[in-house]
Amino acid sequence: MSNIHDLVFLKEKIQELKDQGVYRKLPVLEGANDAEVILNGKQVINLSSNNYLGFANHPRLKKASIEAIEKYGAGAGAVRTIIGNMTIHEELEELLAKFKREEAAMVFQSGFNCNAGAIQAITEKGDIIISDELNHASIIDGARLSRADKAVYKHADMDSLEQVLKESRDKYRNILIITDGVFSMDGDIAKLPEIVELAEKYEAMTYVDDAHGSGVLGESGRGTVDHFGLHGRIDFTIGTLSKAIGVVGGYVAGSKTMQEWLNHRGRPILFSTALPPASVGAIIEAIRMLMETTEYTDRLWKNAKHFKQKLGALGFNTGHSETPITPVIIGDEAKTMEFSRRLFDNGVFVSGIVFPTVPKGTGRLRCMVTAGHTEEQLDRAVAVFEKVGKEMNILK
Ligand SMILES: *Cc1c(COP(=O)(O)O)cnc(C)c1O
Repeated sequence: MSNIHDLVFLKEKIQELKDQGVYRKLPVLEGANDAEVILNGKQVINLSSNNYLGFANHPRLKKASIEAIEKYGAGAGAVRTIIGNMTIHEELEELLAKFKREEAAMVFQSGFNCNAGAIQAITEKGDIIISDELNHASIIDGARLSRADKAVYKHADMDSLEQVLKESRDKYRNILIITDGVFSMDGDIAKLPEIVELAEKYEAMTYVDDAHGSGVLGESGRGTVDHFGLHGRIDFTIGTLSKAIGVVGGYVAGSKTMQEWLNHRGRPILFSTALPPASVGAIIEAIRMLMETTEYTDRLWKNAKHFKQKLGALGFNTGHSETPITPVIIGDEAKTMEFSRRLFDNGVFVSGIVFPTVPKGTGRLRCMVTAGHTEEQLDRAVAVFEKVGKEMNILK
């Protein structure tokens, strides 16, 4: 007789994953997340990180981390509301507010837990959250933690959004529209100017999760809101410190009122230990670097355009991305995974992304170009794409 502690019910589910061919092991990286890495023991060009600016292993960030450790120690020692809130955390929030051109910023331990904490803190029963259908998983989870009602509009479809707003306006007290700033699987940018107009027309609040826009779009990476010149018209702008900024963490930028409230009711602030000083020190350095010069974001965009143009010229379908996220759409799920395996065998790592992460029949290789790549590395990757594309009859 099996015992509940044998976890047979989980073993059965794991077997199902294996039967469906979706069981996997975690890839193992030896060393830093650079443009060229040793992954699972093989040297490959890395086209899969979110390390857009090459900051994750940047000497200036590492030095700042070490200095912060020397001064503040390895850990914060408590949640911020008790005694984990150090001068370095305060300094970061002031700098972020300035960088983002907003009144205030409230820092969380990750982008994920920022959504888990902030959405439920600013909505309640009697409100409605209206979400783009392609929003990130952490927004979906964050909305689930709220007692507000939820509705979804078709991806980037303003008629669909307006329809939901019309139906909701009289039935609810507050309305919160939530969208990704940049959609992570296609690289398209949210239609923020139109969303803001609708929000103003229907007196709804706006919440933009700019995880893939932070450090990428706008002046020196100030984000999607800056890109569209919409400062002061978005109520809550979420950014991550884990992607382009190269470290870990998340934040909400917006009004002083937002910050005051999240200080009291953002549950990860109250119940999870503050970010470690090493991370905060490195993040501050990264933001300073972006405020000093646009050279990092300039290089990112130059590399992205170069890579996209070369793949397009070969005849690959790179979708409708408007950002450095470069999908190469293959379609069939098995073919996509096979393409990814062959790229790896030839020295290029791009993870295949298939259903259910993206719709059926739109399997893709999601290439992430960074400022850390050299043109030589990108050209070498393109040559491998060409070779594998021809071998698999995807290119003529
Ligand atoms: C990656 C991502 C997050 C999570 O950010 P982390 O800092 O890695 O936890 C949240 N929202 C969106 C839209 C993302 O792409």
